Amino acid sequence: MDAQAGLLFEDASLQNIAQSVGTPCWVTGAGTLRRRTRNLKAAFAASGLNVSLHYAMKANDHLATLTLLRSEGCGADVVSGGELMRALQAGIAASDIIFSGVGKTDMEMALALESGVGQINVESAEEIRRLSNVAVKLRRTARIALRVNPDVDAGTHEKISTGRAHDKFGIAWDDALDIYRDAATLPGIEPVGLAVHIGSQILSPTPYKAAYTRVADLVRELRINGLPVHIVDCGGGLGIRYRDELAPAPAALAGAIRDTLGDCGVKLAIEPGRWIAAPAGVLLSTVIDVKRQSEDAPDLIILDAAMNDLARPALYDSWHGILPVSPERLNAALSPQTVVGPVCESSDVFASSRPLPSLRPGDVVALLDTGAYGAVMSSNYNARPLAAQVMVDHGQWQIIKERQPIEDLWAGETVPQWCHRAPE
Ligand SMILES: *Cc1c(COP(=O)(O)O)cnc(C)c1O
Repeated sequence: MDAQAGLLFEDASLQNIAQSVGTPCWVTGAGTLRRRTRNLKAAFAASGLNVSLHYAMKANDHLATLTLLRSEGCGADVVSGGELMRALQAGIAASDIIFSGVGKTDMEMALALESGVGQINVESAEEIRRLSNVAVKLRRTARIALRVNPDVDAGTHEKISTGRAHDKFGIAWDDALDIYRDAATLPGIEPVGLAVHIGSQILSPTPYKAAYTRVADLVRELRINGLPVHIVDCGGGLGIRYRDELAPAPAALAGAIRDTLGDCGVKLAIEPGRWIAAPAGVLLSTVIDVKRQSEDAPDLIILDAAMNDLARPALYDSWHGILPVSPERLNAALSPQTVVGPVCESSDVFASSRPLPSLRPGDVVALLDTGAYGAVMSSNYNARPLAAQVMVDHGQWQIIKERQPIEDLWAGETVPQWCHRAPE
């Protein structure tokens, strides 16, 4: 915050950016991405663990983000052929890429094998058999890790929990040994280890510990049965403070891994997404109108950003800090206000009865901690073009994605001739 320039992000004036680029506009902080990656690495180094870091790129897959994280030594965790191509495009070595995901098509499997990804995390016996067929056809060997479901409740939002027995993810615990054993006999398949990912926005080391304890037991059981286990991929999910949550420090995750898997003699990997990217982004938006409600209801602040830009509040009831960027508004008195987007859906609400400085049409606000699961989830709903994107670094900034031109919205659409006339 600067008395003249207002709200700053990595020393760049957000008001300036909004004026030059227009809104809605995503702003990504390069310095924040770097700092958080280094913090994460330092925490693991301090607990004596050698862990390879595979950024879960579904959180924010812009090439600039990927390139920057690659130069910080990150590999990638990808969940589709498109993400794999993006990661390669950003110069991430195929050997540093883990291919995860609940359903990989034969084509995606072939792409993964031909580009030489380091590891494919598989989620069912059926998928392993299909992968074996694809690998044999291509004369390749798939290095696989079995994603196991530890049946642990990560205590997170229903829609981002992945590690309970009834969630759709992973191989059921009791089947893991048999499936691992069978996989080892399949042509084109080399089982190298286990993977586990129990959910997102996890706020306590306890579920991690529970999951990793079970995984460590399974490593021992597999080895007793003569099956080699070289790798444990510990997944992602580390939560951040959006509002007033007590988010665990990376050291807590490192500690949970060290205490459970530290002496298993396996190579360790983690797949953080949100923790690195979320605080590295804000969404700038302009107030279109302030609609007075009946006496006891708060004013409605109508923004030019909507749920098609930032889906998280509508999708997960998530809370994002909202700050005006101009110095006058930042210091104005607070009153309860409800902040909405213009999309024709009742769920297009960013904040309800939130104490905010009073806002006027034309004011620019920043929606905070929107760097993960923000721009990547945008859609064109209501024929709204995708917002522009900017990257800031030490006071300098640059457009990294132009606002989508309106004509793009119907590019690629064709109209069959018969649509032009009514049938006789
Ligand atoms: C989404 C996902 C991650 C990253 O989750 P975050 O909560 O963003 O850290 C890691 N691994 C897998 C398999 C995922 O699906």
